[in-house]
Amino acid sequence: MRYAEVSVNSPVAQRRAFSYTIPSGLSIDVGQAVWVPFGDKLLQGIVLELSRYPSVEETREIAGIIEPRPLLSPLQVLLARWISEYYLSPLFDAVALMLPPGFERKTLTFICCSPTLPERDVSSLSQRQRDVLELVQRQGKVSLKELEKALGKKRAQTIVSQLVGQGLVVRSYELERVKVKPKKVPYLYLAVEASEARREATGLRKKGAIRQAALLEFLTQQSQPVPLAEARQRVSCDKAVADALVGKGLVELRQIEVKREPISDLDVAMSGPLILTAAQKSAFESIKSSLLQVAKDSASPAIFLLHGVTGSGKTEIYLQALAEAVRLGKRGIVLVPEIALTPQTIERFASRFPGKVAVLHSKLSLGEQFDEWQRIRSGEFDVVIGSRSAIFAPQPDLGLIVIDEEHEWTYKQDNSPRYHARDVAMKLAELTGAVVILGSATPDVETFYQAQQGNYRLLQLPERVTPSEGSALPQVKVVDLRQELKAGNRSIFSRSLSQATAKAVANREQVILFLNRRGAATFIQCRSCGFVLRCKRCNVPLSYHFTGDMLVCHQCNHRMAVPQICPRCLSRRIKFLGVGTQKLEQEASSTFSQARLLRWDSDATRGKHSHQEILAKFRAQEADILIGTQMIAKGLDLPLVTLVGVINADTGLNLPDFRAGERAFQLLSQVAGRAGRGVLGGRVIIQTYSPEHYAIQAATKQDYALFYDKEIAYRRQLHNPPFARLASLVYSHTNDVLCQREAERMRRLLITERDSKGIADLSLIGPAPAFIHRLRGRFRWQLILRGFELSAFLSQIPIPPGWTVDIDPVGLA
Ligand code: ADP
Ligand code: ZN
Ligand code: ZN
Repeated sequence: MRYAEVSVNSPVAQRRAFSYTIPSGLSIDVGQAVWVPFGDKLLQGIVLELSRYPSVEETREIAGIIEPRPLLSPLQVLLARWISEYYLSPLFDAVALMLPPGFERKTLTFICCSPTLPERDVSSLSQRQRDVLELVQRQGKVSLKELEKALGKKRAQTIVSQLVGQGLVVRSYELERVKVKPKKVPYLYLAVEASEARREATGLRKKGAIRQAALLEFLTQQSQPVPLAEARQRVSCDKAVADALVGKGLVELRQIEVKREPISDLDVAMSGPLILTAAQKSAFESIKSSLLQVAKDSASPAIFLLHGVTGSGKTEIYLQALAEAVRLGKRGIVLVPEIALTPQTIERFASRFPGKVAVLHSKLSLGEQFDEWQRIRSGEFDVVIGSRSAIFAPQPDLGLIVIDEEHEWTYKQDNSPRYHARDVAMKLAELTGAVVILGSATPDVETFYQAQQGNYRLLQLPERVTPSEGSALPQVKVVDLRQELKAGNRSIFSRSLSQATAKAVANREQVILFLNRRGAATFIQCRSCGFVLRCKRCNVPLSYHFTGDMLVCHQCNHRMAVPQICPRCLSRRIKFLGVGTQKLEQEASSTFSQARLLRWDSDATRGKHSHQEILAKFRAQEADILIGTQMIAKGLDLPLVTLVGVINADTGLNLPDFRAGERAFQLLSQVAGRAGRGVLGGRVIIQTYSPEHYAIQAATKQDYALFYDKEIAYRRQLHNPPFARLASLVYSHTNDVLCQREAERMRRLLITERDSKGIADLSLIGPAPAFIHRLRGRFRWQLILRGFELSAFLSQIPIPPGWTVDIDPVGLA
């Protein structure tokens, strides 16, 4: 093999690889990271293929090896190629998904003496040139950056070019060092004797400094210094309390270096497998037999859909299936949504596979990610658990892939490559022969359809495990908001919800008030009858645009003025834009003045630990009512919550997206599943203007089949996925008119292509303003393609810069 096809780390390289000659004496493997000349630069590249013949006539030589060991396995190379082809992403973007964190680094340029320094007279050189040459000769190697600092950028580059041109010096390149800093964590130390600290604590308590006293007492009870975060959680106080003790000289705060091991701060006790229930057993046996058959090479691996409500014991099946795979000499990858990657989840896995679980998620520091990547590759872990990108972990001997909450939209990446982790997992499983388990209480309609078609094997867990008494499914009540207004109630709380909330608070129970903010304020609704204006042509809800006070259809660009009265009930309260979290908080605090409120939404939860801090507060009963957006619908176990109120279930339903019904059903089912997990049982009250909507009905009854049958019928009727595929093309430009014009040009081009190829089953929707019409000063127009093999079709079309292509989009562009 004399040639290598290399994916080059350059924005102009796009979807192709380049041929290079392998210099004699250099041994090169597939997946290896190399230096290659590209234009006048030296760039990073990954070898994708070795060949006897180059794909072009003239090739340049590979300049060197970055790392002796290949970074990608041959299967990962195939996976990267597939991602680039299917999602139409630059090849290196796809490759980069699998590289160790921090690999993509800047190159530094150095100037060295020429190895074959010509004997020559340097008197013809200028003074500056001579100075530089002497410096290089003295030091052997000088960084270009240093020269630029001393001489100015332009001048330094000119002088270097002249010296290189005369053969006096050469350039060489090195990778910038990875900036991996040791991690430090603040610890609290007692600065005085424990006996004195106890006396001081008593004094503080007398003065009313309860928290300070509690923290100090807590520290006196510990045999060793305690991490600040732990102390704060145990005593439930904030940092200011610790600072106050530091100020008094009673406590010291020291930064201690820790090994970067995300699991290490959990005290994990070992746990063994549980005895499975009958339903669990039958599901597990199917998975086990597929794993065995694959191991014996007697069948190809299966894809399982494990359908079961929250608490039905899916996780236990994942754990036992992983143990089975390990017994067969294999390893696993487990994907969970980022938000569900809590210490509780990790602990369950870590306790079953002590020391054998690697955790990957986006909030790890670069150093932590780098360490984990290296250890995974060397085969130290049986299980890798992480969010979306963990599917690219270099886990050897892959035998099982688990995707929990497979319906979650966060599995789709929203920048290039716009991959869906579930589809990537399917491809990876096909390449490696791994068995796949998709788990969900509310499977994606497309997934369930595949199971119905027999492409996936459906495993059902119809009931909660209910190990203790209580914790049956909660009661769900739907309140018709139209009736509330008729009865003269203008509050955002219906009579039922406000009574139930007051009662729960009085009983010292906890309440969650849930507001689906997504999509609020994008449509207008009649406050009296709940009517929402829809496009006459497309039947999607019209979106309200503040500029111009207009209603716009985001599919066909139909526009109309906002009517003054409701076309259905003639009310003048037609322009109602929904409720925000702030408004909800205000009304809640005036209506339930005795209750302590806590707010949880994405604005309130930036940062690494704040989710858990808010939760810890709520668990510790420091608040009675938790107000939050869709984030609280996920994976929480809050035993004291006896009531969940959904403020307006219609918000999700009225997004101009064909998946709005599905999304609303998923959210409402999750919310409904939240209450009643403790011994107290629970109630859910859903407020809505459309109590007859199938998504609300089905969520109320926790009836997936009811929802699925309706939804799949609509999908079939309207040729939406899974009955066709979609691709979204968005063009953005600072000028709205030019933006629209380019979108129309693209539409004509696509139609011409389609017709010349005689593709019958491809339709175009739009162009229309994208749902987010203006983003960071740029206007956006969207075209949607509906059909089959869209990647192959689009790969033949020249797509100019400014366009974004999204294959199998989810949500609204
Ligand atoms: P899911 O993943 O479907 O939400 P889990 O696996 O978390 O369900 O199970 C819910 C609860 O029931 C957990 O506390 C779990 O420990 C417990 N559990 C699961 N399976 C069993 C079993 N076979 N016997 C006893 N308890 C079980
Ligand atoms: Zn009305
Ligand atoms: Zn329309």
